[in-house]
Amino acid sequence: MKESTNKNNKSKGNYVKKKNIKRVSKSYGRNRRNSSRKAAPVKDRKFRVIPLGGMKEIGKNMTLIEYENEILIVDCGFSFPADEMFGIDVVIPDFSYLKENMEKIKGLVITHGHEDHIGGIPFLLQEINVPIYGSPLSLGLIEHKLEEHSLSAKMHVMNAGDVLRVGSFSIEAIRTNHSIADSYAFSIKCPAGHVLHTGDFKVDFSPLDGKRIDLHRFARLGEEGVDVMLCDSTNVLRPGYTPSERIVVDSMNRIFEKTDKRIIIATFSSNIYRIKYFMEASINHGRKIAISGRSMEYVLGLARELGYLDLPESAFVDIRRIGNIPDGNLTIVTTGSQGEPMSALTRMVNDSHKAVKLKKGDVVVFSSSPIPGNEKTITNVVNKLYEKGVNVYLSDFVDIHVSGHACQEELKIIHSLVKPRYFIPAHGEYRHLMEHARLAESLGMSRSNIFVMSNGDSLLVEEKRATLEPGYASGEGVLVDGYGVGDVVEVVLRDRKQLSEAGLVVIALCIDRATGELMAKPELITRGFIYVKENGPLIDEATDVVMETLGNLSPRALRDVAAIKTAVRDAMRTYIYKKTKRSPVILPVILYV
Ligand SMILES: [Zn+2]
Ligand SMILES: [Zn+2]
Repeated sequence: MKESTNKNNKSKGNYVKKKNIKRVSKSYGRNRRNSSRKAAPVKDRKFRVIPLGGMKEIGKNMTLIEYENEILIVDCGFSFPADEMFGIDVVIPDFSYLKENMEKIKGLVITHGHEDHIGGIPFLLQEINVPIYGSPLSLGLIEHKLEEHSLSAKMHVMNAGDVLRVGSFSIEAIRTNHSIADSYAFSIKCPAGHVLHTGDFKVDFSPLDGKRIDLHRFARLGEEGVDVMLCDSTNVLRPGYTPSERIVVDSMNRIFEKTDKRIIIATFSSNIYRIKYFMEASINHGRKIAISGRSMEYVLGLARELGYLDLPESAFVDIRRIGNIPDGNLTIVTTGSQGEPMSALTRMVNDSHKAVKLKKGDVVVFSSSPIPGNEKTITNVVNKLYEKGVNVYLSDFVDIHVSGHACQEELKIIHSLVKPRYFIPAHGEYRHLMEHARLAESLGMSRSNIFVMSNGDSLLVEEKRATLEPGYASGEGVLVDGYGVGDVVEVVLRDRKQLSEAGLVVIALCIDRATGELMAKPELITRGFIYVKENGPLIDEATDVVMETLGNLSPRALRDVAAIKTAVRDAMRTYIYKKTKRSPVILPVILYV
């Protein structure tokens, strides 16, 4: 990889030097941008786009761009498990294609610091060493993750507008707007073509940091010619535009104006600019700010270190010292907007928060919307808040949250500016991808140039055509449970499901090795199946069934562990189902003496 060594760039604080993150010159490649495609001698006029995650799902985003013997990775996220994945912590993309092609991998570029884009990185780095490129905030969040896993990687800061070379790829970071600071789209050029990956974005004409999405650049790249565009599909089902972050701040100001009680704001710690504005509004209304929750403290600490949050020290008060501050002069910013059981807000609600005791009249603002699947836990928290006489503001009734993703009209803007030859709807469930394909068609794209892909498929792009290659790489999700990566397979999940639904029955048998005779009455132990003390007759009868089953076995079968287990398991399964209509896991344990 080549990069400029311009040392005069001003960094945000001294974070960059301290953390050994290299900066990339802003000017590199700017002047050769237009010539990059012509300048390189073209050996091969084809390249591939291979999504390993993020297709037909929202989560674990990861896309490979492969040119000759080089691979560039865009994002490496994780997703949260589906309900039927019992005990699974997270799901990550399958890295086997990358492991097989390890020597080809040139770099990992990060669009932004959300978990569905960076969460898988520690697992990737355990397998593959790869340099990482992204915004200061993305890299700061990644660094924190890596420290937790005792890992390290070479990291290179890219600012919006930076262009750099990684192998044969020329990569440009383009500013977008999203619900986390410094989100980028990437223009990725190789001698065979040009890919534009939008990352997660919306078009915000009045973003809180004043840094609008670089629509000029999208338009210019469109003029230069984009072969393949991958575009965020999250909000494609919503007509119109996503409102600006600005309206959130306006709503919050109205809440500040009409209340003289404590205000507790629950929001995502990564939405730093929104939090910054809430904090500034607090200061303007004569309030001190206390921060609660581990991730909130960490992210805001990082944001201050990097210069995203330049507020005076005197504006803050330690959460343990809020006791002597009048209610009307205090704002608490907290985690827990999703009703997470261990979060600070949930602890407040359950009276187990060390510093904050909720009281009648307190105001709690949820500046968030439920992530699908969290509705129930949030409702529980909200109900408990009502019980305590707390005034609750939810985004259903007040504009205190807006989405970070583009709605239909914004998507149309991007499509119209970029006008790609081929289009891959990305970052969406199947319905989102299909609707996004339809939207592109409605703007005049030919259906044959739109590719709705599955994880692991490849789009082979040649000079005059593009071909979908289904199942080019493995696109299955890999389940992570504690320290185990990929060791929980289908059959384990099935057992967990069965255990959770009907419990466990252990049948302990003690058999004479010489004669094959039962030495004692079989013992039945159950967990999560029935309460034994109240079901004596059932247990007795089941024990009889086991003895009868053993009695029917030949002396030879009685010396065969597998045969006994199968016979006992089958007999018990039939008996228990007949009696209870339940199917617990049945586990015969045989002891030969
Ligand atoms: Zn995002
Ligand atoms: Zn995302």
